[in-house]
Amino acid sequence: MSPIIRRLYLHVPFCARECPYCGFYKHTPGRLASTDFIDALLAELSLRLETVQMIPESIFMGGGTPSLLSRSHWLRLASGLADRIDLAAVREWTLEANPRTFDVAKAEAFRAAGVNRVSLGVQSWAPRTLATLGRDHTPDQAREAWRMLRGAGFDNLSLDLMFSIPGETAEEWQQSLDETLALAPDHLSCYNLTYEEDTAFLTRHLAGELDVDPDRDADRYLETLNRLETSGFIHYEVSNWARPGKESRHNAAYWRGEDYLGIGPGAVSTINGQRWKTLPDTAAYTRAALSGEDVRTEVENLTAEDLRLEALGTRLRTLEGAPESLVNPSAAEEVTLLVAEGFLNRREGRLLLTRRGMPLVDSIVGRLV
Ligand code: SF4
Repeated sequence: MSPIIRRLYLHVPFCARECPYCGFYKHTPGRLASTDFIDALLAELSLRLETVQMIPESIFMGGGTPSLLSRSHWLRLASGLADRIDLAAVREWTLEANPRTFDVAKAEAFRAAGVNRVSLGVQSWAPRTLATLGRDHTPDQAREAWRMLRGAGFDNLSLDLMFSIPGETAEEWQQSLDETLALAPDHLSCYNLTYEEDTAFLTRHLAGELDVDPDRDADRYLETLNRLETSGFIHYEVSNWARPGKESRHNAAYWRGEDYLGIGPGAVSTINGQRWKTLPDTAAYTRAALSGEDVRTEVENLTAEDLRLEALGTRLRTLEGAPESLVNPSAAEEVTLLVAEGFLNRREGRLLLTRRGMPLVDSIVGRLV
């Protein structure tokens, strides 16, 4: 009996230009953003459907910038999905979008196809910070993109912000929060800038050009926490806030450890304790998928220990916390210490981060594994 999978991820690797801090698999489209690429995605899906039953409750189209696809490619992909899988159970269909990559007609096409949630990559409202990040939009273009999405009928819009960007002042971050709240978002993701492998930012950081300041990071994070809490958001994961009922179902399923199928170059899947990555090379991926070849790479069988570590790391970041049973028994004393130090709370067999603990979640997990 083939497994039933309820989470579908599609990776579209194209970006108008490459942001110097971004570690995802992405590139400019060139001639690769073609009908062949869309057909390759659908061919890969068809191949996977020989071994899994896909009855999605959530779909997430990420990248890259899926909103960069042309309207005709987008419609081809949406109808190809509908031809292959029953979409009746889909409750949440998220599309990652960037300002300047869509117009009113495209926004309406997203909505008509069934997308009911858009995550807009704004990152900052301060022009100087946008320039540092190498973003190609202005604050006005981001506001216009937001208006187009609302105009197309989206009542579940998320906005992505980044903080602790070198050179960004506390006032600029406060201004970014002000501008964001003025748009009345339904959901917010706010991430601390990190220096990812194989990025221009990491090179500059190692050369001493871009700093790291843990105190500044913690201050910005706590300011964000206070500001969003008093604005009525539920803080349901360390970096994510939502209006009641607007939490991301798809990401919450990842954090619970549900299986998911990922399609597209560089996408990751986890099904029945097996994890693989789809070939992270768009041209080779397209050729292989269209020839009916298996495009999985890096296939690994996850051990119970792998799953325990992963569950501890993801669940501790959530509002519900992590079952204490996930902690390595040899780290029991660390739990007592972390509680005494005010970084963790214990409640009904679960461990929950305190406000003090939230900015330090990665090091706390490190002490518990
Ligand atoms: S941050 Fe987003 S827009 Fe920038 S390169 Fe990465 S995926 Fe593309």
